[in-house]
Amino acid sequence: MRYAGIVSAERIAGRSGVGAVMGSKRLKAISVDGTRALELAHEEKFKAYTKGLRQRFREHPVMGEKLRRYGTMGIVNTTNARGILPTRNFQRGHHPDGTKLSGEYLEGHGLVGVKSSCVHCPVACGRDVEVEGKGRVKGPEYETAALLGTNLDITDLAFGDAAAVSVAIKDIAHRRGLGNDLAEGVKRLSEKYGGAEFAMHVKGLELSAYDPRGSYAQGVEYATTNRGGCHVQGASMYMESTGPLTINPHSLHLKAELPVVQQNLACAINSMVMCIFTTYGVIPAAVHRMNPKSLRYRIIATLFEHSGPLYRWIMGLKAFPLLWFEKWLTFATGRTYSSGHLQEIGERIFNLERIYNLREGFTAKDDTLPPRILNEPLFAHQTAGHPLHLLLPRYYELRGWDASGVPTRKTLARLKVRT
Ligand code: SF4
Repeated sequence: MRYAGIVSAERIAGRSGVGAVMGSKRLKAISVDGTRALELAHEEKFKAYTKGLRQRFREHPVMGEKLRRYGTMGIVNTTNARGILPTRNFQRGHHPDGTKLSGEYLEGHGLVGVKSSCVHCPVACGRDVEVEGKGRVKGPEYETAALLGTNLDITDLAFGDAAAVSVAIKDIAHRRGLGNDLAEGVKRLSEKYGGAEFAMHVKGLELSAYDPRGSYAQGVEYATTNRGGCHVQGASMYMESTGPLTINPHSLHLKAELPVVQQNLACAINSMVMCIFTTYGVIPAAVHRMNPKSLRYRIIATLFEHSGPLYRWIMGLKAFPLLWFEKWLTFATGRTYSSGHLQEIGERIFNLERIYNLREGFTAKDDTLPPRILNEPLFAHQTAGHPLHLLLPRYYELRGWDASGVPTRKTLARLKVRT
């Protein structure tokens, strides 16, 4: 099946079919073992810094409180209130019973669970839960709740209405009956049976559970990210729709700049094998506690929205530690890193992926969104869908690509990428 994941004891690399790639090579598993200790350039500093940061993450309102307490299902009420919770295959962005899938509701209705995490993570956004007749199993998380829940108009956790979905999932895994077609993914399914206008994918990867018509930067990110409609290759929606300090998700300001910066950052920290949630701490705890209706909050949000040039200048500085990743790298390797270096490393990775895609036949035509997202309004003030056509030229320019989305020689030379 084309979107098979790679499963470890605790977690699944579950997007874009990396398990299918392993399967195509008849590779069943990868086992890693070793005896050599990890060598760090400045071990004591690294450990002391990590210890302080772990404490900071534990005390952070999102990482230490919300994600830790409710898991990622703590996002459901936010996206539902913001009108971007996929509902009935992205026909709507709000579900009247959406709250029944929220972490807050479930905590009061038996789904307490035991926290679980990736190795050594202080956030522990996962959980194990007891299910009658099944014993202890992995608890649901946001993407599952939204895309198998409200997006299919299912909010009944008893799974009374969801029995057919449960059967379909097993049929997909075994490629039985209709499951054989569903195992091909949305893109191929729509090519076979029709319905391209409501096939919710970009470059063949199904959209994540944030409707970009209420999160314009996230839409640019879906359209341009090299692996398709993915939210963990930048997560711009955190800055405009789901985080504590959000810029106007419907304005055009910063909606080309934000994806560039976020995608570069995500490439860099993904290559460090760090979790994207660790970037959420960039917004200080004090901001989380601010009243969004207060004048102070609105001034900060407005300044942020118009901060494109300043944003780019700061991120481009080669001696400006903005996040914690630079310090980690510096202590680990003994080489001095700044946020500017991380941006450059991420940009290099992003461009390498881009020219790989171009070589494999992708073009600017693939930097798009599903017709439903582009053409159908989601909010009362919208006359059409996402304004991608207004943002894409600016995005290409910021990336140093030509009008057809190809990195220029100058850009590749600057990044020391050889073709
Ligand atoms: S590393 Fe990320 S996904 Fe894993 S438990 Fe921590 S916050 Fe959750």
